[in-house]
Amino acid sequence: MSAAARPPMPLAVTAPLPADVRVSFEFFPPKTEQMEQSLWACVQRLATLQPAFVSVTYGAGGSTRERTHATVVRIREETALEPAAHLTCVAATRDDVDEVARHYWQAGIRHIVALRGDPPEGASRYLPHPGGYAYAADLVAGLKRIADFRISVAAYPETHPEAMSARADLDNLKRKLDAGASQAITQFFFDVERFFRFRDRAAAAGIDVPLVPGILPVTNFNQVRRFAGLCGASVPRWMGELFDGLDGDAETRRLVAASLACDQCRALYAGGVRQFHFYTLNRADLAYAICHVLGVRPPRSAAAEPVQAAGSGV
Ligand SMILES: Cc1cc2nc3c(=O)[nH]c(=O)nc-3n(C[C@H](O)[C@H](O)[C@H](O)COP(=O)(O)OP(=O)(O)OC[C@H]3O[C@@H](n4cnc5c(N)ncnc54)[C@H](O)[C@@H]3O)c2cc1C
Repeated sequence: MSAAARPPMPLAVTAPLPADVRVSFEFFPPKTEQMEQSLWACVQRLATLQPAFVSVTYGAGGSTRERTHATVVRIREETALEPAAHLTCVAATRDDVDEVARHYWQAGIRHIVALRGDPPEGASRYLPHPGGYAYAADLVAGLKRIADFRISVAAYPETHPEAMSARADLDNLKRKLDAGASQAITQFFFDVERFFRFRDRAAAAGIDVPLVPGILPVTNFNQVRRFAGLCGASVPRWMGELFDGLDGDAETRRLVAASLACDQCRALYAGGVRQFHFYTLNRADLAYAICHVLGVRPPRSAAAEPVQAAGSGV
């Protein structure tokens, strides 16, 4: 079996519990009152794990501008968490983007995830706005001119689908870092060997900032396969086999998802990774469980009361 075809190898079960892992969590801004409540429950549960930061996405083409802002500011005002606001270049002038950034700075937000963004719905390919920032590297430089933000950027272990080549994509990552970003969060991936090869290539290119793997616990396999196709992430065949036959069985899918993501994270840890970023999709339970396995737990005084499984009597 080739390395590429092999499932990720977890740490031996007897390995000591990690004590040096830092995590961060990504949320999306809620659309309705009900979604707001469930996001907030999720934020509060994950806050007990004392993440390095939590980030809030920016809808395609700036479509969630106000909601992202409101969510980030609420986190800033009502929790002890460090919120990071995603910000994109798509369909906005430099003045528009600068104004959003200035509002963030005034509201005490110091961390931005700076992105180019995907084309707005209906557009077949990305075209820079004539008066806007063309690429994320330009945005990073623009943000640094406004204030001394802490800036994270995106990285692609399997290369961004529009990049001319893997080398050009790595050069682009270097430009973003040279412009002032201090870390990169990766697109989700499932094959840990691909992440390790990317990390090696980045190191050889002189990139020495943290490359934080983006972890997506998969509960809806078909949806993730479609999404992965769009963003250039590969889905290994062995993974499809694990979810095969579970389309109508959400509960078993969740158990498989947790097991898979735990294996992935433990294999990354064994390979030296100490920071993990979780795409939570505004649900706490899987990320919380994986963090537990990684040794990331609430301080004893903040730990929740034990949860009893409904009707199990356990
Ligand atoms: C961690 C993470 C969070 C994300 N959050 C959001 C979000 O909140 N909202 C959202 O809309 N999207 C989000 N995305 C998706 C992201 O916007 C897309 O992947 C987008 O297509 C590229 O964004 P980027 O910042 O990587 O772009 P860039 O770094 O600008 O690169 C985009 C492409 O252009 C190429 N390129 C760069 N500069 C040049 C140049 N000068 N000439 C020619 N080609 C060039 C690059 O190689 C790459 O192929 C996120 C992605 C990640 C990994």
